[in-house]
Amino acid sequence: MTAEELAGKLVELLEDAERVLTARPVLEKLSKDFYWYSPILKRQLEEKTGDVAVQPVSTEEVVAVVRFAYAAGVPVTVRGAGTGNYGQCIPLEGGIVLDLSRMDKLEEITPDGVAVCQPGLRLAPLEVEARRQDWELRMYPSTLAKATVGGFLAGGSGGIGSVTHGGLRDFDNVRAVEVVTMEAEPRVVKHEGEAVREILHSWGTNGVITRAWFALTPAVEWVQVTAAFFTYEEGFRFARKVAESERWQKRLVTVFEWPIPSFFTPVKQVVAEGKTLVLVMIANVQAGALKLAAEEAGGKVTFVGPYTGPKSQPLMSDYTWNHTTLWAMKADPKWTYLQAGFLPERCMEQFRLLREKYGEEILFHIEFMKNGEGVVVPGGIPLVYYTTDERLKEMIAYCREIGVFIANPHVNNLEDGGRFRSDNVQLAAKRKYDPKGLLNPGKMLSFEVQRS
Ligand SMILES: Cc1cc2nc3c(=O)[nH]c(=O)nc-3n(C[C@H](O)[C@H](O)[C@H](O)COP(=O)(O)OP(=O)(O)OC[C@H]3O[C@@H](n4cnc5c(N)ncnc54)[C@H](O)[C@@H]3O)c2cc1C
Repeated sequence: MTAEELAGKLVELLEDAERVLTARPVLEKLSKDFYWYSPILKRQLEEKTGDVAVQPVSTEEVVAVVRFAYAAGVPVTVRGAGTGNYGQCIPLEGGIVLDLSRMDKLEEITPDGVAVCQPGLRLAPLEVEARRQDWELRMYPSTLAKATVGGFLAGGSGGIGSVTHGGLRDFDNVRAVEVVTMEAEPRVVKHEGEAVREILHSWGTNGVITRAWFALTPAVEWVQVTAAFFTYEEGFRFARKVAESERWQKRLVTVFEWPIPSFFTPVKQVVAEGKTLVLVMIANVQAGALKLAAEEAGGKVTFVGPYTGPKSQPLMSDYTWNHTTLWAMKADPKWTYLQAGFLPERCMEQFRLLREKYGEEILFHIEFMKNGEGVVVPGGIPLVYYTTDERLKEMIAYCREIGVFIANPHVNNLEDGGRFRSDNVQLAAKRKYDPKGLLNPGKMLSFEVQRS
């Protein structure tokens, strides 16, 4: 079927030509994400696009599009806001881009603090409304302003808040998801409790999320504090104490070694030349005590300001998680990144070994987070100065050799990305819900191998 015929069929189906998009620049935009963060993915994915994009407004319309795609054998790639950074929503085999941005309703916040929402709802308005009702997000990616609930659940892992609440797949952070299956007669299936793990972080390969039950937490009056330390070790040790101790009520604990803070040009005033910067989002009632603790640890407090929601000025989380990489790339496009997990008991040695071998080709950016066992660990998104693919691969291999976990962000499939579940529940769901392999084809390698 040509792209034109495909578009014609979809217009008939939705009875609305305005929500069937074929203009080249629009398609180009709706087929892409932040894949260009990786010099390797940039080359691999630059030319890939869908053939047509559709914007359903209801689950019924999603079902209709999927039913048609199944019968016609056309691939479907779901899109939220396209802020993923491994080409997750880039269609490898053309077909339909299912843009869910118009399904953006917050249906309700239940009395026990669960947001029931459509997948295209952006996280920023959800955070604002939740706080208005004395709740807030348990965690959000630094792309809060644009990212959607569906995209976060299907493509993200955690973020600001994970130091206290863990990742998306941990605990009961996501209570339930409803997915539309890719079958002759698509079903609408609700996954609750443990079963959400079949769908979370599956990149839209095993179902289209059409509704989510996302757990919130009581709102806190937060304060953003930054402190500068002479050495990376000093800053790291202080941050680690804050992150690990139950004494502190926190939402974010981040460490940037110098010269990373020099990339944060809009907030120059919080940066101290040559020094490591520690950023903490702390409960207002503890801000004074935190300032004292930072000073006792040898730090100099450079900023204290309230968090009043996504529009806070400045919003310091705009410099954390993968936004750090963005600021570095603005300063010099040769910077790229890794996603790392350091061993709590060996991290100082791991930092030393990496520094000895690579010097300032690697810069430490640490994000503390709680793991599934409830232990706070030093994760991070270290910056890497790119020279060649071989050097990058060698660095990843060396990290793994010395026990640093790497979720490789320079690959475009779930398994090599390192967050595929070893119990294969995502694969089992793919076999059940997408037997023809039409949902985001090419991204779940273990399924592709069986298909070929
Ligand atoms: C600067 C920057 C900072 C980032 N920081 C973080 C961070 O702190 N934490 C983090 O976890 N991630 C982070 N990311 C990655 C990304 O922004 C988040 O994961 C975000 O939540 C993705 O949401 P989205 O709506 O843009 O999803 P998209 O990019 O549109 O989609 C992501 C994946 O989910 C699939 N998908 C989207 N909607 C659905 C649906 N309804 N049903 C099924 N599949 C669907 C897509 O096909 C794709 O595979 C960052 C990225 C950038 C560029």
